[in-house]
Amino acid sequence: MEIVVYPDPRLKIMSEPVEEITEEFKEFLVEKFYPLMKEKDGMGLAAPQIGINERFFCFDTSHISDGIKRFVINPEIISSSEENATFEEGCLSVPEIFAKVERSEKVRVRYYNEKGELKEEDLEGFNARVFLHEYDHLQGLLFIHRLSPVERIKVNSGLKELKKRYKNEN
Ligand SMILES: [Zn+2]
Repeated sequence: MEIVVYPDPRLKIMSEPVEEITEEFKEFLVEKFYPLMKEKDGMGLAAPQIGINERFFCFDTSHISDGIKRFVINPEIISSSEENATFEEGCLSVPEIFAKVERSEKVRVRYYNEKGELKEEDLEGFNARVFLHEYDHLQGLLFIHRLSPVERIKVNSGLKELKKRYKNEN
């Protein structure tokens, strides 16, 4: 499994729901998907980032206080706070680029976990941010699509470099 990198068109597709949470799929999540994220030093990994356009992701923020580890299948965002926070983000699919992104401070979400159980929970702060970043991947969106004009200028040359690299390799 390799990480799909910007501007690969597979990162821009709206992903389809997972139809069935089979034993095989659970095993894949825990034994292949999550370890790949850790191996790449990521805090989150969404299916489109390995070329699978289905609605699932995992994340692990346990390095921070109140950090959590989650496997998320067919997520829904039930509500998100009007109160926003701005913080620097990066992404395994947009290597070496970091920029500040404004997102809701709190979200209420619903999803199936790696055991196939339906979960509903409130997330806030960094946990909410990582969830929303990964959720965006399922919508075909990257954090670089959410930048203010000022932040956008900062990452422009880096993005051009990634486009050049992609063109040379494909
Ligand atoms: Zn990402």
